[in-house]
Amino acid sequence: MDKMRELVDLLNKYAYEYYVLDNPTVSDKEYDVLYDQLVALEKQEDKVLFDSPTRRVGGAPVSAFKKHKHIKKLYSLDKATSFDELISFDNKIKKEGCEDEYTVEYKFDGLTICITYDDGKFVCASTRGNGVEGEDVSAQVLTIKSFPLSIDFKGKLEVQGEAIIRLSVLEEYNKTATEILKNARNAVAGAIRNLDPKITEKRHAEIMFYNVNYIEGREFLTQVESVEFLRANGFKVHPFLRVCKGIDSVMSAIKEIENNRKTLDILTDGAVVKLNDVKFREKLGNTDKFPRWAIAYKFEAEEITTILTDVIWQVGRTGKLTPLGILEPTELAGATVRKATLNNYGDLQRKGVKIGARVLVRRSNEVIPEILGTTEVFSHCTDVEKPTVCNACGSKLVEIGANLFCPNENCKPRVVAKLTNFASKNGFDIEGFSEMTAELLFEKLGVKDFADLFLLDRDELLKLDGFKDAKTDNLLNAIENSKKIDFNNFIYALGIDNVGKKTARDLSKTFTNIDELKNADKEQLLSISDVGEIMAEGICKYFSNQTNILQIQKLFDLGVQIIYSTEQKTGVFSGEKVVLTGTLSEYKRDQAGKIIEELGGEVQSSVSKTTTLVLAGENAGSKIDKAKKLGIKIIDEQTFKMLIKS
Ligand code: NAD
Repeated sequence: MDKMRELVDLLNKYAYEYYVLDNPTVSDKEYDVLYDQLVALEKQEDKVLFDSPTRRVGGAPVSAFKKHKHIKKLYSLDKATSFDELISFDNKIKKEGCEDEYTVEYKFDGLTICITYDDGKFVCASTRGNGVEGEDVSAQVLTIKSFPLSIDFKGKLEVQGEAIIRLSVLEEYNKTATEILKNARNAVAGAIRNLDPKITEKRHAEIMFYNVNYIEGREFLTQVESVEFLRANGFKVHPFLRVCKGIDSVMSAIKEIENNRKTLDILTDGAVVKLNDVKFREKLGNTDKFPRWAIAYKFEAEEITTILTDVIWQVGRTGKLTPLGILEPTELAGATVRKATLNNYGDLQRKGVKIGARVLVRRSNEVIPEILGTTEVFSHCTDVEKPTVCNACGSKLVEIGANLFCPNENCKPRVVAKLTNFASKNGFDIEGFSEMTAELLFEKLGVKDFADLFLLDRDELLKLDGFKDAKTDNLLNAIENSKKIDFNNFIYALGIDNVGKKTARDLSKTFTNIDELKNADKEQLLSISDVGEIMAEGICKYFSNQTNILQIQKLFDLGVQIIYSTEQKTGVFSGEKVVLTGTLSEYKRDQAGKIIEELGGEVQSSVSKTTTLVLAGENAGSKIDKAKKLGIKIIDEQTFKMLIKS
């Protein structure tokens, strides 16, 4: 019993922080683990405490807002975290004699909003609250432009949707925010459950609608029909809605969402599976908390909280110091996370990061885990000290904007990072050259500049640990063979701040040779789509530095030769600036990109006024909306295939 009391109290504390304060101290994953423990304990003891979170939907409305009673109760969703659980959900449905036709939709991770209309006019907007009563957030929701104030339907109506903030919008907001918003869910909840509607407006939320909770004098036969009604009345409905016959088809739709979710501009924490036919829904009914005809399939969590034990500073190739958070090891998305990145000292401050504090960490796919923010600060926490000298070479650091720099060109980690980048696949592609090689060459042979690599002495190399005849010759041959280099790879190898593979390629296409690039001014650089102020300034600064110019010249003196692509590619995409979005069934995106370039087109990474064409695969996200707004031509994969064959 003590254990049960303890769990209920802890979960209620977390629910209060999540639903009322919009400032959770633990991740959803940690909450869900404890919640599942409580459910199991309640089952085992056959007892449920009066204030158990398993009895209620959401959180109580906050008194600061006027209360709003929903016309019909709004429910939460039962959850499944494995396909086995989905199959048992499906078995129960079939056992009750219901037909197994389902819809699969995104589970939007935002704040549920319920909007009431009467006589075709907006009446009020509220949160879900405890399902029976929510908070009247009309003033806040009215600042959101993406839903209708008047609709064609004239009866009483209550529609439900999820207020969300797009990930790109959040990123943009955080660039200038004094206090960084940790994640899109908390950001939108905090924006709407805020007494000042001006704050809501600043965060640019939108609402995705998915449910008609009540409608006067009309009945829908299916989920699809109700969603079509929403669309027809001007509500924003996400285009992804699969109708699936049988649970196998549901599972493949879920896999599809899971594969695409990383490319979406919207935060989803799962998929919602609903029986399509309303008559079967009525037959199954609801528990106190969930409808029996729907289930949320939750994806593996990507966020977790843990304690930050230290911050170390790493020196990069440009001398910039990047803080790296050392964490109490924790399991996340199938791996043990021990370290997570922060951008710079300014970022660390805006996130309120302190040693000993609980921080929220996100890990998605191959991306290095990132510290999103601080969830709890304790009395024993200490500030992260701002370093004044470089921990690698002892030089006095220089502060530029939010960043700290080591000014010593010969600082070891800086040289090693620079040489490793130079020799990498996208640069000179020197086979067998690793970070360890760079370290060894720096430490033992004093290699510092790019040019030094082309002056390596065979006998000197043979003295190094592990360098026998074969290895030495292989390295020297690889270096010799790298001397003829494509223009884009050459630009990449220079390691200019912020210039990655894509920008290097764009620059190589815009300028006919290295001299043109050296002499380019900011205006010229800014005219390249995807090159912004910071990048343009970085490029100009790089080429205005005489040391860099001399280094480049030295490379040429040692026989490096840039290969300029003279042949102008022409074809069906000549003159087109193309953006690819969504998933293509027959091609990987970069494959399709290469085909477009071979046929004379230019591939862009985001839709802008300069874009002339969008190739949209399945589940294309916000790029399509933007393209439509700008009136840009959109083609699907079928048309693409026809064009490349023509
Ligand atoms: P939920 O978020 O797991 O799922 C139900 C909700 O999903 C619905 O009420 C609806 O608002 C939303 N939804 C999104 N897309 C939908 C769609 N297409 N169709 C239908 N509904 C859709 O449940 P909940 O009751 O809102 O919240 C419980 C969850 O909140 C917990 O499982 C936990 O993950 C999280 N939580 C976290 C903390 C914390 O401290 N981190 C505390 C309390 C709750």
